[in-house]
Amino acid sequence: MRRVSILGATGSIGQNTIDLIARAPEDYHVMALTGAGNVAQLAADARRLGADVAVTAHDHLLEDLRAALAGSAVEAAAGTQAIIDAAARPADWVMSAIVGAAGLAPGLAALAQGGTLALANKESLVCAGQLMLTTAKTHNARLLPVDSEHSAVFQGLVGEDMAAVERIIITASGGAFRDWPIEKLAKATLAEASSHPNWDMGQRITIDSASMFNKAMELIETKEFFGVPPAQIEVLVHPESLIHAMVGFRDGALMAHVGPPDMRHAIGYALHWPERRNLPVERLDLAQIGQLSFQAPCETRWPALRLAREVMETGGLAGAVFNAAKEAALDAFIAEEIRFNEMAIVVEEVLTRMSAASDHIAGEMTLDNVAQIDHLARQEARAVMKSRAG
Ligand code: NDP
Ligand code: MG
Repeated sequence: MRRVSILGATGSIGQNTIDLIARAPEDYHVMALTGAGNVAQLAADARRLGADVAVTAHDHLLEDLRAALAGSAVEAAAGTQAIIDAAARPADWVMSAIVGAAGLAPGLAALAQGGTLALANKESLVCAGQLMLTTAKTHNARLLPVDSEHSAVFQGLVGEDMAAVERIIITASGGAFRDWPIEKLAKATLAEASSHPNWDMGQRITIDSASMFNKAMELIETKEFFGVPPAQIEVLVHPESLIHAMVGFRDGALMAHVGPPDMRHAIGYALHWPERRNLPVERLDLAQIGQLSFQAPCETRWPALRLAREVMETGGLAGAVFNAAKEAALDAFIAEEIRFNEMAIVVEEVLTRMSAASDHIAGEMTLDNVAQIDHLARQEARAVMKSRAG
């Protein structure tokens, strides 16, 4: 039996992971499930899967969680530290699917116990790529990508020599506003930004897809995970979301990963790696689909892509600044305090202001430093938004 834990079990990726595990319960011992606000779902899944412990991020929900688990053998816990402790429980495979920078410390704790970390939480690599990789190395842990583009690249590299790789192309659907007139973006509503043409995902990543901040983060994630120079990483708009990424080799070959837009493929690949097992995903009928289309991304429409290139050039803690400013701007957009197109303006302003404090950016990458810079960047983002509003 494989010991598995799911961090962010109540979210979109978490629920897709549970869907796969629940199909073969005899194969898995569930060590820990974690969630935040959705205590009812957390408790129901923990009971169903017979988890050792269920943890909510919110201290004030501990009693609710206890009540929902009453009569079962599942232990209940609450709080940020309890999530980190749950992540540190010995497990063979841990899914990192908390949303945002909150996923970093639990992911590091899971790596430190030495198993395999299936990484959906892209913020970990954006904020602290080098720290994630060195922690994995130190503890002999394995990091496997779950983000669909990175899973596709990873699969395209099996048996290949990195020295033969010329370029990596990650695709982007273009999100909700691909074909909108650019001047209309300032008027985009929260509801409009929260619906994705092809993928069913959590609200935050769906909005990030519309703004291309998601792809911007994935550019950084690609650089960190595969260790390729930024100039070799490209974004290609592909509205059908069927090709997830391509790897270009020095002999001119482009290996494309084609599959349905269903995260259970990438999750299942990471779950069963290095084997391939049957997965409950649609089999594509390409004759029926007929055609696939591609466009170059427009940096006027999606300034986030340009910002990601600047962050990759700066390196160090710039990724943590970028992510924190983006999270703060996204919070404000969700609260309907700023406009859709202002998110990129706020992030750019925070990057500019904080690059002046270059000692922060150039600082050593430890979890404490990342947390500190994250805090400062959120503060700065709020100050920028306040000055724009006033
Ligand atoms: P969701 O918003 O659907 O789920 C987020 C999960 O994190 C939930 O379990 C939520 O709990 C929990 N959570 C929220 N805040 C905290 C916190 N402060 N501390 C601990 N746990 C918290 O997100 P997704 O599943 O869409 O995304 C998860 C991660 O995977 C993100 O990093 C995203 O970028 C990445 N990803 C997602 C993809 C997708 O298809 N959805 C594709 C590729 C990457 P609760 O719901 O109980 O409040
Ligand atoms: Mg992705």
